[in-house]
Amino acid sequence: MSYVSEVMERVIAKNPGEPEFHQAVKEVLDSLALVIDAHEDEFRKISLLERLTEPERIVSFRVPWVDDQGNVQVNKGYRVQFNSAIGPYKGGLRFHPSVNQSILKFLGFEQVFKNSLTGLPIGGGKGGSDFDPKGKSDREVMAFCQSFMTELCKYIGADQDVPAGDIGVGGREIGFLYGQYKRIKGLYEGVLTGKGLTYGGSLARTQATGYGLVYITEEMLKHAGQSLNGKTVVISGSGNVAIYATEKAQELGAKVVALNDSNGYIYDAEGIKLDVVKEIKEVRRGRIREYADAVAGSVYTEGKGIWNIACDVALPCATQNELNLEDAKKLISQGCTCVAEGANMPSTREATDYFLEKKILFMPGKAANAGGVATSALEMSQNSQRLSWSFEEVDEKLKNIMIGIYAKVSSAASRYGAEGNFVAGANIAGFEKVAEAMKAQGIV
Ligand code: NDP
Repeated sequence: MSYVSEVMERVIAKNPGEPEFHQAVKEVLDSLALVIDAHEDEFRKISLLERLTEPERIVSFRVPWVDDQGNVQVNKGYRVQFNSAIGPYKGGLRFHPSVNQSILKFLGFEQVFKNSLTGLPIGGGKGGSDFDPKGKSDREVMAFCQSFMTELCKYIGADQDVPAGDIGVGGREIGFLYGQYKRIKGLYEGVLTGKGLTYGGSLARTQATGYGLVYITEEMLKHAGQSLNGKTVVISGSGNVAIYATEKAQELGAKVVALNDSNGYIYDAEGIKLDVVKEIKEVRRGRIREYADAVAGSVYTEGKGIWNIACDVALPCATQNELNLEDAKKLISQGCTCVAEGANMPSTREATDYFLEKKILFMPGKAANAGGVATSALEMSQNSQRLSWSFEEVDEKLKNIMIGIYAKVSSAASRYGAEGNFVAGANIAGFEKVAEAMKAQGIV
């Protein structure tokens, strides 16, 4: 049996009941087979893949807090410190009822390769809780965040592990978490990124994942002799990533016609009015259906179905496995020729394989959404130098990082005879640096 198959069997046996983690590892190992097979003896001898697929540490803890009715609530909290070969653990915190160890391990594993692709010195981690901030008062969210950080603060630090936001963790949550860290530790340090601008945050961090996604999409289109200008785009989600992907795509001349949330989707043939979406989502924390009440001519449809809308470019920006094989077929049959993932693993394995088989332009999440973590690393640099760069400076660096990622991904794919297969390219390019660092650091 090949080394890759052996390790995959081991991962399934040793991590039962963790389908998302299995899915993420399988996708990476399958596309690394070319590289691994060429160095099989060397990698086997140092159990490189066994170590790469085993998190360095997982902390899980109880998060008790008191709700507005005086009831004691208890949630689960986690931090997965996956791999620190190339830098301190870095990766977001997700607050969503679906959060469990499998999802955080898949996200942490993906993060290792993504962070490597940015070219910056950051290792991979992820964390979060099954707490649902939706429908909670600000006081309840604060009580939860304070309790969560009271435990988490024992395991993180500016040179150790630097969490950021993810689903359900935006500026409000980062503020409460940071306040509690500072209070307990007495340290004013860059221990979290995505901070507010008055206490160490970086300009353009809020926009970074969405903008970065569009920069790399434009770069991919450019190499195919096209551009976003004049293209019809469908974007799923209506959170941080989706909103700023919409903003940048519109700036580059695309027409974004649809967005969704977990209840349903809106279609606006005239092009989404982003100020209305921002008011609903960023100010009122409302539902996307409210868009149809505010904008005449737009239509709201309850449920899934956003990928039935015809488009040239699709940018899934909501959550994992939100786009399946049927959706992929529908998209392509209606003329979609470019998909770039703003979310982490939004396409199922079958959908990804279909995109590759049809040879459309397809950029996987670990490359396409790396702009967020890259800008987080820029925030860390500013914090340690006690400096603040301008919006334009950060945005320019972000753009160059995304163009650099495209180049790395595309050239790694070509080097291994998989021209145009950016899934293989991203996995190989991300893996090479981490593997090199792990080899150099001995058996740890
Ligand atoms: P937000 O919480 O800001 O927004 C998430 C959006 O996705 C919401 O519109 C939400 O709808 C929707 N969504 C979440 N879960 C589901 C679900 N199960 N089914 C349908 N829709 C769902 O999160 P972000 O925008 O920050 O994150 C979106 C994706 O991007 C995630 O995969 C995240 O891991 C990834 N990402 C984020 C980065 C960042 O910097 N924020 C960096 C890199 C990747 P609803 O309100 O109904 O839940």
